[in-house]
Amino acid sequence: MRVIDVHAHVLPKSFIRAAEAGKDWHGIKTSSIRLSPKFMWSTEQRISEMDDLNVDVQVLSSHPLFYSYNKDAELGKDIARDCNDHIAQAVKAYPKRFAGFCALPMQDISSAIAELERAVIELGLKGAMIDDVVNERTYDSQEFLPFFQAAEQMGALIFIHQGSPTIVGLRTTKYALPITVGGPADRTLTFASLVFGGVMDKCPNLKICLAHGGGYTCFGIGRMDLGWKVRPEARANISRPPSAYLHRFYYDSITNSEENLRYIIDSVGIERIFFGTEWPSDLCDDSPVEWLLGLKNLSQDEKEAILWKNLERVLGI
Ligand SMILES: [Zn+2]
Repeated sequence: MRVIDVHAHVLPKSFIRAAEAGKDWHGIKTSSIRLSPKFMWSTEQRISEMDDLNVDVQVLSSHPLFYSYNKDAELGKDIARDCNDHIAQAVKAYPKRFAGFCALPMQDISSAIAELERAVIELGLKGAMIDDVVNERTYDSQEFLPFFQAAEQMGALIFIHQGSPTIVGLRTTKYALPITVGGPADRTLTFASLVFGGVMDKCPNLKICLAHGGGYTCFGIGRMDLGWKVRPEARANISRPPSAYLHRFYYDSITNSEENLRYIIDSVGIERIFFGTEWPSDLCDDSPVEWLLGLKNLSQDEKEAILWKNLERVLGI
């Protein structure tokens, strides 16, 4: 029995050093950013907490506040490289405890492809974490197709996770809704954009993992199917209903609800679910492994598939 966490964030050392010195980092005001103190921990402190949580391996991704897609492309590239070099160093120092996803300057697709290539082929990372949207462009836009084709060819897993603002954050900033409702809403729109846009047909071997259980995807699939059936524009790029694509994606287990997780497993298949924690965010469950092991409506085989077997198979960890 092992535990592999697909959803764990990290800050690059250069950011931490700048924050401790009260300096800006690539033009980002470090003093204006409020994060859980655990983000500032050393790699060794992180490993000690992983031991306490019974997590063997974290697949590290940089904090989504570094997406920087609205910045100059060169600056976006520098930020991504800093993030990726830091993750690669952690993986190299502790190969049994860490794997990694890179960050990418998605505002410049040829630069994003080049950095994905560097990260996967040279640095040995497993794929990339990207936002649900790039400067208000969804992933059905033609400009992104070469990126998804390149990721498919490299066998890289693309982990999709909201940045800021989410679609809800554009309407309200109250009650923490931009994160609790906005992230899942963004993820649902991402699934729909990739499916209705025909990207999943054009890239039959593309590996995508939707964070936070894919948001509302599984719960809203019936209405997407209805749209495909009765509205011709919904059939413009696909000859099968959206529900036929549910099993083409991977989903992390972060649902915070046994009933929701059970429903997603029954919708997409147990082999498509990866264990995730969101560590070290304040939204991370206190005992995420124990929570999953304690679920009454999952068999032991299902728990082991989620906790490690699926990630071991798909990412070769
Ligand atoms: Zn996260």
